[in-house]
Amino acid sequence: AALDAVGQRDADVQAFLQVTPELALKAAERIDAARAAGEPLPPLAGVPFAIKDNMNLTGTRTTCASHMLENYESPYTATCVRRMLNAGCLPVGKANMDEFAFGSSTESSAFHRTNNPWDLERVPGGSSGGSAAAVAAGMTALALGSDTGGSIRQPAALCGVVGMKPTYGMVSRYGVVAFGSSLDQVGPFGRTVEDVALALDALTAGGRDPFDGTSQDVEGGFAAHVNDGIEGLRVGVIPSFMDAVGLAPEVKAAVEAAACSLEEQGAKLIEVDLPHLDAAIAAYYVIGPAEAFSNLARFDGVRYGYQEPGCATLAEQSAKSRAHGFGAEAKRRQMLGAYLLSSGVYDKYYYAAQKARSLITTDYERAYEKVDVILMPASPTAAFKFGELSDPTQMYLSDMFTISINIAGNGGVTVPLGTGADSGLPVAVQLVGRAFDDRRLLTFARAVE
Ligand code: GLN
Repeated sequence: AALDAVGQRDADVQAFLQVTPELALKAAERIDAARAAGEPLPPLAGVPFAIKDNMNLTGTRTTCASHMLENYESPYTATCVRRMLNAGCLPVGKANMDEFAFGSSTESSAFHRTNNPWDLERVPGGSSGGSAAAVAAGMTALALGSDTGGSIRQPAALCGVVGMKPTYGMVSRYGVVAFGSSLDQVGPFGRTVEDVALALDALTAGGRDPFDGTSQDVEGGFAAHVNDGIEGLRVGVIPSFMDAVGLAPEVKAAVEAAACSLEEQGAKLIEVDLPHLDAAIAAYYVIGPAEAFSNLARFDGVRYGYQEPGCATLAEQSAKSRAHGFGAEAKRRQMLGAYLLSSGVYDKYYYAAQKARSLITTDYERAYEKVDVILMPASPTAAFKFGELSDPTQMYLSDMFTISINIAGNGGVTVPLGTGADSGLPVAVQLVGRAFDDRRLLTFARAVE
């Protein structure tokens, strides 16, 4: 059914870079065989899912939507993908994304755009735009994305699906192409909070992954606790966020409606102040490009990816492979990172950004002394039109509400709340939890759904 849905809808939506019917059907046959043999079935037996194309899966290319990796065959399967397969999920294909996950609209993919299933003239968000669109169009029930500054939560908001960035360290990054290693986190998309909780159970089953030094053991039971209710718990609201420049009135209305609903269900609303959050975007656009510059240095025209033919020297081969393999945004990020890490400049920007990072993290820790969860917008607006945010710095602002959570490392989940009164497009809210309190975070998400 999922493959039929792809056949019917993906010509319009273009969520996928590769569709993998052989792999999906083979996985389905294994489940059928287990059922015929009377063996117990895994918890998500037969659930189709999409995989962002920065995650390795043996038998597929992992392109990161870049010419640099256009012909790169996955040498092994990423832990996050392996765990979904272990849970019985069927891999339907590799989903489109912004090149190397740099962007908020999927427009920087080197191969094609992905159209928002709600309005094909609008972006699905990004960088995990293909994953969000696959779920929104009903082509898969679940999808995996990665989120460095909002890349799961923002496209989920624009496509009207649930998307979660778990606390940093909950899901293994092994086998996922790195962007900003201290910020990157893998997470699920689904149509409901319960579906996302089931996927998170699958992603964390088996505990810490020895192949990712930052991964941690987590207590599961996300789906089992999703309906626990929120009576007597405390919800933080940030009044200054509601007057943020660029926040669409219909998104503001959604946040207000969610606050009312939580209050009606017995939660207490408490105003919190996160005084250093206005430094989050600036700190992110130092730390992110610095780490990206370091991580993407491996694409040198020798070890991985595109190799320019006919070069006389190694230096020429490396320079030309990089010049022709990377697109404009990937180059912009790496040039910025190279500059920020150069001697004389490093102290002024990188060191300052790390200080801001500590202050932002402390802001969140202080807030969670008073509250159990924080409610805020996810994306400042509903889906925008292709080309509408053509200035890169304007695009960077579309993550104004998601970025600080990657900087602090705690979990965040986007919950769609119907369509906006002005645009008629999906609008959403974001709930942000205490670090490693993702179980309660999902209980709150379920309550506003
Ligand atoms: N939009 C942000 C950026 O361009 C975040 C991307 C991401 O989370 N991968 O860096």
